[in-house]
Amino acid sequence: MRPEARARAASGEPSLEVVPCPECERPAEVVERCFLIGTDGPVEHVRIQCVDRHWFLMPAPETARTPRAA
Ligand SMILES: [Zn+2]
Repeated sequence: MRPEARARAASGEPSLEVVPCPECERPAEVVERCFLIGTDGPVEHVRIQCVDRHWFLMPAPETARTPRAA
């Protein structure tokens, strides 16, 4: 994993992102993004692979989109 990946994700660059693995909570790299049709329309999903080689296809994390009420 290149060190600039985390900084780039933090700056909003969509190309590479690191999220915690749902299985082992180690860092997992987002390797693919796609939209799957859900009940409320297209839902962005991400395919991730963690450092322990777990693979997941799951709804994209919404950390950057969730509105925060002060
Ligand atoms: Zn894992």
